[in-house]
Amino acid sequence: MSKRLLLVGAGHAHLEVLRRFKESMLRNVDVCMISPSSYQFYSGMFSGFTEGIYSEEDTRIDLVQLSKKSGVHFIQKKAALVKADRKKVVCEDGTVYPFDVVSFDIGSRSLPVEYEDTVAHTIKPNYRFIDKIKSLRETTKPLIVGGGAAGTELALSIQAYKEKHKIPGQVRLITSERVLSSAPAWTSARLRNLLNKKGVRVWEGERVEEIYDQFVQTEKNNRVRHTGVLWLGGAISDDIFKRSLIETDDRGFALVRPTLQFKSFDYIFGAGDCVTMEDYPQIAKSGVYAVRQGPVLWENLMNFLEGKSLQSYVPQKHALYILSTGGRKGFLVYKAVSAHNHKAWQLKNKIDTDFMDKYQ
Ligand SMILES: Cc1cc2nc3c(=O)[nH]c(=O)nc-3n(C[C@H](O)[C@H](O)[C@H](O)COP(=O)(O)OP(=O)(O)OC[C@H]3O[C@@H](n4cnc5c(N)ncnc54)[C@H](O)[C@@H]3O)c2cc1C
Repeated sequence: MSKRLLLVGAGHAHLEVLRRFKESMLRNVDVCMISPSSYQFYSGMFSGFTEGIYSEEDTRIDLVQLSKKSGVHFIQKKAALVKADRKKVVCEDGTVYPFDVVSFDIGSRSLPVEYEDTVAHTIKPNYRFIDKIKSLRETTKPLIVGGGAAGTELALSIQAYKEKHKIPGQVRLITSERVLSSAPAWTSARLRNLLNKKGVRVWEGERVEEIYDQFVQTEKNNRVRHTGVLWLGGAISDDIFKRSLIETDDRGFALVRPTLQFKSFDYIFGAGDCVTMEDYPQIAKSGVYAVRQGPVLWENLMNFLEGKSLQSYVPQKHALYILSTGGRKGFLVYKAVSAHNHKAWQLKNKIDTDFMDKYQ
């Protein structure tokens, strides 16, 4: 009898699993993908969409089509609970899906619970991005909270859009640390200068405490006016694992072994932002790692189903980041090196369009 594999979430690693199914067309496994949107939006293209370089079509992968070509049954639902011992996933609408093996690649959230009832927007899950950014970029004082790669890149992209379309006003960015705090201090300083030069107003070392309809209040008692808030303050876990009594790190991300199997369950796998590797708890919640986990996840899912031994995923020590800064220029960061030029953007454009082509 064929075994049932459930893929929960259409994150980067699961896209690779779908693609491999398309290539191999295995018949001895019954595969379902559960994801709340029929499209997967790729965050690498978000800055280009925001600025007006890419269309909506360019930023998304049609999951219904890809699943069909891969022989995978697509279920447009959101998983709410995993009954790990009973091998069942329960969706928000109460439907139950049994499995022999399940894999999670559901990404992360970004808006803290305490701000859910405020005017602050989140673009997570990623299918919310298009609508949110379309309205925000038209306003005069959009405010980004979070000075990491995503926050700074989107601030610069909205500013570029506003300039192109002569929309008055200025993008504002508040961050509790320095911008791009994971990079060396001189790289942060270079990016901060660039933000200033492009006209983005930046507050560093300021934590947002309260969000009101027309302004936010920081812990230093500054009031910063806004016409819309986009919260990009770092990855927060979905509640699903805590609710399911799965072992997690202290932030609620499921703990996985080097084989990408959950800590206490051989038949539950996971990849991307939603998991933390026990042996590498510090690696960033970023798409780079989710992409690299894809091929290992595929091999291990297949080998596990066939009773063979599994391989380990070893994360790379350093990752290359290229932030789009507007006008088809990119800010490239690798280890201690940074560069700002058109070549960097061209490289980013190539990496991102190659990624999209692979899954269309
Ligand atoms: C503006 C921006 C730019 C970025 N640029 C980069 C970049 O250039 N490089 C980089 O490495 N990282 C980048 N990141 C970070 C990157 O987006 C995330 O780290 C990455 O998307 C995580 O990938 P993932 O595979 O874990 O999940 P995601 O890509 O977030 O996908 C998760 C999937 O799971 C689905 N899902 C969610 N909840 C459920 C559920 N309960 N049940 C079923 N399905 C569910 C979602 O709909 C989605 O399909 C950027 C982030 C932002 C916001």
